[in-house]
Amino acid sequence: MADSAPIVLKFGGAALSDPAKVLRWVRLRGARGNPLVVVVSAREGMTDRLLRSVRRPIREPSIRRLIQELRQRHPAPAAEVDPILETVRSTVRKIGSGRSPDPADLDRLAAQGERLAAVWLAGEMSRRGIAATSVDADRLGLRTDRHFGSARIQVEASRPAVRRGIGRIWAQGRVPVVTGFFGRGPGGTVTTLGRGGSDYSATALGAILGARRVELLKQRVSIRSADPRWVARSRPLGYLSYEEAEELAQFGARVLHAWAIEPARRAGIPILVRSLADPRQTTTVGPAIDHGTPRALTVVPSLRLLGLRVPGGRDQPGIIAEVTRCLAESQVNLVQLYTSATLLCAIVESRQAGRARRALAGLARHRDAVAEPPQAVNMVIAIGERILEDIRRLPISILESTLGVAATPRALSLAVRDSDLGPTLRALHRALVEAEIRP
Ligand code: ASP
Ligand code: MG
Repeated sequence: MADSAPIVLKFGGAALSDPAKVLRWVRLRGARGNPLVVVVSAREGMTDRLLRSVRRPIREPSIRRLIQELRQRHPAPAAEVDPILETVRSTVRKIGSGRSPDPADLDRLAAQGERLAAVWLAGEMSRRGIAATSVDADRLGLRTDRHFGSARIQVEASRPAVRRGIGRIWAQGRVPVVTGFFGRGPGGTVTTLGRGGSDYSATALGAILGARRVELLKQRVSIRSADPRWVARSRPLGYLSYEEAEELAQFGARVLHAWAIEPARRAGIPILVRSLADPRQTTTVGPAIDHGTPRALTVVPSLRLLGLRVPGGRDQPGIIAEVTRCLAESQVNLVQLYTSATLLCAIVESRQAGRARRALAGLARHRDAVAEPPQAVNMVIAIGERILEDIRRLPISILESTLGVAATPRALSLAVRDSDLGPTLRALHRALVEAEIRP
């Protein structure tokens, strides 16, 4: 019965700042009798604080300050908080005593912010009349692969244990408050899902529990047609298809965790992204709808374009594979690849440009190709179902200042110089969003 299906409410770090507000949402959403699951991220700044604490030489007084700060931000019974703080203390010490930190230790440390938030919020809720139980995602059985720092959730493998565990709490008439951001890797170690990963925890739990919807409640969020710092006329987007939202998240719009969409898409569960500061700012993410959705523009700034001229071009089988392989072997993240028959343009992050350049120079020597000097570029991406139909509406001047173009029916990306970034964004926005001549 869809109507009595559970609702997952995820609160971001800043959204937790006012427990009374959290309570209001929980009451509102529970009013029709749907079972609720609350997912929490760490309180604002806590994940950064934990990770920063091991970046400099570690001394006892700074560990004491860290523990004191964590305790202050999470007023809850010592019996619940002390074991978590003890793990923080021992993990920081362990990391401090080694040369390079073990990724498993870093993940264990980072996860303590969510553990504290869950214990604290469950206490606040219970104190204010909503019986709640904090739940650690790893103990619950939310399984992941082994990639510390960027683990993927195994939805199917997690299903039986998670359903059982959450069901037990519901049966006691309590609301589970589950830690976001991490799960249980192979062998039972904690694995984190990447920064901002509690969105992903929430949609995966939604998929596992067959939720009616997943609400991502953030203090301030606005998914817009463009960044208002660049385009003053940008407007909020009320609806995005799963695929559009994923393109947007992947292409650097830091509003959603990039993997958060997939579990919801597979299970057909809508995601609501809502601002607590301004509830009119709500974006629903769901199946593609017939009449199309507005276009969204996003920017990936500070990139380098490295051209490789290959004589004989496509007559050299495997050349593209070689480019991608030599970049991958040098640990360079290939952001985009624009190609023609004899010119391959790799776009990489500027901090990796040196490595990329050396890798491609090596390849050029061996392939008798020419590696061109890197150019500073930014990528502008226009996203929307059937975006290619809109190409004829673009002013030709946009293409004149473009150093590379790539497109699928859903996303069009352009590489432009710094000086062309603002004008290109605004021209695209005028043509694709403000013109609004689509049906
Ligand atoms: N607390 C984690 C982070 O700051 C996860 C999250 O916020 O979703 O990245
Ligand atoms: Mg956070």
